[in-house]
Amino acid sequence: MAKLSTLEHLADEHGTPLFIVDHDIIRKNYLAFKEHLPRVQIFYAVKANSDPDIIKTLYDMGSSFDVASMNEFLLVHKNIESLSEKERQKFIWEKIIYANPIKDIKTLKELDSYKPLVTFDNIEEIAKIKQHSPNAGLVLRIKVPNTGAMVELSSKFGAEPGSAVEMIEEAHKQGLVVEGLSFHVGSQTTNFENYIQALSVVAGIIDEAKIKGYKKLKIVDIGGGFPAPYDVNVEPFNNLARRLNSELDRLFDDKIEIIAEPGRYMVATACTSVSSVIGKADREGKRCYYINDGVYHTFSGIIFDHCSYHLQAFKTGPKQICSVFGPTCDALDTISLAEELPELEIGEMLYSENIGAYSRSSSTWFNGFPPASIVHINK
Ligand SMILES: *Cc1c(COP(=O)(O)O)cnc(C)c1O
Repeated sequence: MAKLSTLEHLADEHGTPLFIVDHDIIRKNYLAFKEHLPRVQIFYAVKANSDPDIIKTLYDMGSSFDVASMNEFLLVHKNIESLSEKERQKFIWEKIIYANPIKDIKTLKELDSYKPLVTFDNIEEIAKIKQHSPNAGLVLRIKVPNTGAMVELSSKFGAEPGSAVEMIEEAHKQGLVVEGLSFHVGSQTTNFENYIQALSVVAGIIDEAKIKGYKKLKIVDIGGGFPAPYDVNVEPFNNLARRLNSELDRLFDDKIEIIAEPGRYMVATACTSVSSVIGKADREGKRCYYINDGVYHTFSGIIFDHCSYHLQAFKTGPKQICSVFGPTCDALDTISLAEELPELEIGEMLYSENIGAYSRSSSTWFNGFPPASIVHINK
């Protein structure tokens, strides 16, 4: 996180609520991921934070991208518009995956001219792709255990491993090529066993497909889920990396390309929010602070991401347990019912670290309050 004096200075200059993005930390996270998992190509999952400047920084680092809507696709595409037609097509083939297994027909039609790699996980989708995006390459998303992940995804997506080879056959029958397999172990996975089990499921499918004559599977996409160090209970990333590296080498020969779609890991620690106290009251013996950012805004992750964030004051002093609420008229707009804070006056500021993923990107305009302003540092 940036120094406290920097945060205060920026908040004085730009006002609050403010969302501060430190691009040095994004670059550091990118390099750490690469260093720990040298065999894995990084496809940044744009949905974690789709700020165009973040995408630009990762593009400049050489990142590839996971997109899940036409707008996300175009956000990435903006960075390559000055390239030649041939370079652009190469970038889309090699460095973009459209990793939403369900695509509407309009999107498929728009995607077709770009010939992208797209994921699917059901028979109905194969027919849709064949009809509306026949130039796309396919990656089959497999259902894998999401045990203990903060955000579970397996109830919504993924073909049963037992039906995987059938799906590959069906795509083949329709003249499409399945180039690889993907999975997602659930976001903020601290149970590293999920990855180990998923890799073994995928290796089994590749073997079974080979026996049936399908030898074109060359991509293994290990998805996202890599945990951000929100607290001391999260095991260090290099423990996960060590186990992944040995499994990847044991299960897949070097003709198999390994890709990953980290979202949270790249951006969570890179952003800090600064907000101000706009009201205070004592209710049932408890101090309540009302601040100018909340769960409909930068703290949306409390609802959508099942995440919690600590609020800290810039000033020191004896602390008491307080409630902290957002600015809207809804009681759901509650950031914390048990935050330890010193005595704060109206206008004094609070900050919250590690709030870069699934936060401001799902901010709304509810009650007429706009999303926090963004400031980029070390760009
Ligand atoms: C959300 C998502 C990601 C990113 O997940 P993180 O847990 O943030 O790393 C990657 N791939 C797919 C398909 C996703 O839906």
